[in-house]
Amino acid sequence: MKLYNSLTRRKEIFIPRFGNQVSMYTCGPTVYHFAHIGNLRSYIMEDVLEKALRYEGYDVKRVMNITDVGHLSSDADEGEDKMLKGARREHKTVLEIAKYYTDAFFADCGKLNIKTPDVVEPATNCIDDYIEMVSTLLEKGYAYPAGGNIYFDTSKLDKYYVFNDFAEDDLAVGVRDDVEEDNNKRNKADFVLWFTKSKFEDQALKWDSPWGVGYPGWHIECSCISKKHLGEYLDLHCGGIDNMFPHHTNEIAQSESYLGHEWCHYWFHVHHLNTNDGKMSKSKGEFLTVSLLEEKGYDPLVYRLFCLQSHYRKGLVFTWENLDNAAATYNKLLSRIAGLNPDTGATPNLEAAKAYQAKFQKALDNDLNTSMAITSIYDVLKGKDLDDATKLFLLEDFDRVLSLNLVQAAAKVRAAGKTAAASGSDEYAIHAPADADPVLAEEVNALLLLRYEARKNKNWAESDRIRDELKARGIELKDSKNGVNWTKT
Ligand code: AMP
Ligand code: ZN
Repeated sequence: MKLYNSLTRRKEIFIPRFGNQVSMYTCGPTVYHFAHIGNLRSYIMEDVLEKALRYEGYDVKRVMNITDVGHLSSDADEGEDKMLKGARREHKTVLEIAKYYTDAFFADCGKLNIKTPDVVEPATNCIDDYIEMVSTLLEKGYAYPAGGNIYFDTSKLDKYYVFNDFAEDDLAVGVRDDVEEDNNKRNKADFVLWFTKSKFEDQALKWDSPWGVGYPGWHIECSCISKKHLGEYLDLHCGGIDNMFPHHTNEIAQSESYLGHEWCHYWFHVHHLNTNDGKMSKSKGEFLTVSLLEEKGYDPLVYRLFCLQSHYRKGLVFTWENLDNAAATYNKLLSRIAGLNPDTGATPNLEAAKAYQAKFQKALDNDLNTSMAITSIYDVLKGKDLDDATKLFLLEDFDRVLSLNLVQAAAKVRAAGKTAAASGSDEYAIHAPADADPVLAEEVNALLLLRYEARKNKNWAESDRIRDELKARGIELKDSKNGVNWTKT
């Protein structure tokens, strides 16, 4: 597999250090609020990456932290603690907030078919590990105490800005206009490894340490949690593009100074999801969450498809119209898959399937080209050399990576069709024009069954959307008491 490596700024063949084993680390969420769908874009693409590696036969161990302490409202060392801010906002304790939003995060991930990593470690579990790493960094001369805090001394490194060649002055480290500069820092880029009570008197979570009662800086958690579960060498580290600086830059500074050797070779960064008016934020305007998508009648997997349709290294703009287009694509695929017959009794033709699998894998191998991988679904549906059993086999096979649940959802559409047909005109009958093209009729009927299901579930938004979608394709609907008639204009 070829992957773009942010560290070397080129596509490289991915070769894990130890044979078939891949150690993979993902920066987890800061659990002070719901994840927005931008955050979840990163987790969707990282999930696809993990699954693509597994698809290719790698044995992946994936670890993710949960940031429940230490992340301040700026990504550097200024501002309020995000967890404390969340707790105040909701009149709860920091631990209650952490539990609530961790659960909410995994509930969202479940709806988006994002697999839970093999190890999930809350930052507050690992205080002894931070103390050990910070002590060693002090011993080795990479850190210094000042004003009650312990700082990492970036001047001790040959190269600190590993991801970019920006001049130091271009970077907003500790020098944002609205924030007072931290005079304890010897160098502008230095960052805090351990805060003591001298910084925030009302910090809720504090621990004893050799340097006084306090709490860890944000970056140290990932260096330590990764080492704890994946050892001294990491193959692949992921996060959103904003994590590149300062977070990942600081993780590398700490880990490599502590370990004395290169730590992680491949760095995978997902570019941002933005709205038309700019950056996605949890405090600005309508806060886009998975629950909001559901309230508006979208299946969360439509959002997953929307993300997969673009490359992870391109910015993606979210609009409701764009999501509608993804919903139309999803439904169209669903209706075509529902038209396949799963009961032919034939066994899949694995020989014929191979060429399709190879093409699918080639797309993934090309720096995780998910939109190209999705075209493999269309290739299968169009495949003249494939019978229905082989088509369904391939679609399930691809879903090990794409996780769009199309085959299962199509089975439900088929079952709904059978129920409707069995109950005859008493319940729901679809009347197609006598001269309708059979392929079109199959698609329209499947969409109408989806609409029928949506209406039964009182999902009016989805039912309206399907009506609009059909209308855009020249299909007019006339609902009757026991069913629907459609005509083609
Ligand atoms: P946080 O909960 O703020 O620590 O962020 C969780 C993850 O979401 C991190 O990997 C961020 O880099 C990523 N992220 C933040 N904003 C966006 C966005 N608009 N689009 C994609 N990923 C994002
Ligand atoms: Zn991290």
